[in-house]
Amino acid sequence: MKLSNQRLERLAATDPLTGAGNRRHFIEHIGAEIARAKRTGAPLSLLSLDLDHFKDTNDSRGHSVGDEVLRVFVRKCLEAIRPYESVARVGGEEFMVLLPGATLDAAGAVAERLRSAIERTAFDVGAEPSVGVTISVGVSEFRRDGDTLDGFVNVADQRLYRAKFEGRNRVVVA
Ligand code: GH3
Ligand code: MG
Ligand code: MG
Repeated sequence: MKLSNQRLERLAATDPLTGAGNRRHFIEHIGAEIARAKRTGAPLSLLSLDLDHFKDTNDSRGHSVGDEVLRVFVRKCLEAIRPYESVARVGGEEFMVLLPGATLDAAGAVAERLRSAIERTAFDVGAEPSVGVTISVGVSEFRRDGDTLDGFVNVADQRLYRAKFEGRNRVVVA
């Protein structure tokens, strides 16, 4: 079987479990969007999100139900964002969403909409009952919260940790 270069590139950029972008590809993608934001002066924002108490879900329902929750979760994220926005799986149950053109306020609104949609979703996976999921989210805006890739990502991560610390199932914007 011979795969086209385009298909090979796509496979190399994709997380096999969920179909989301993978970490390596996403870092490249942020770099490209930063270059564009510098050129155009347009805003660029980032969400760092992590499923709450996901270890408990795995422990009580099993790893394959956990896997299915991650797949459905990515589908829900894709439904909530626009085609030019992107979602990546950057760790086991850690994700990032890049929002070109979005200010911190606009990104905070996207994050809150997503948080609320996930909270209201019954994840019908495996046996009954359906699984409830909540997420914590940290939000950052390029330039305002750091003008390097690392700075921009770190601020979103720090705010995610604050969202966890402050009780989970919440969005921290500043
Ligand atoms: P917190 O609210 O603080 O984020 O708690 P948590 O339990 O989500 O956090 P922790 O980092 O302790 O646990 C993450 C869990 O995610 C551990 C592991 O069981 C689960 N996990 C990570 N990757 C996968 C995966 O690919 N599949 C499944 N099913 N579970 C995974
Ligand atoms: Mg977690
Ligand atoms: Mg985690």
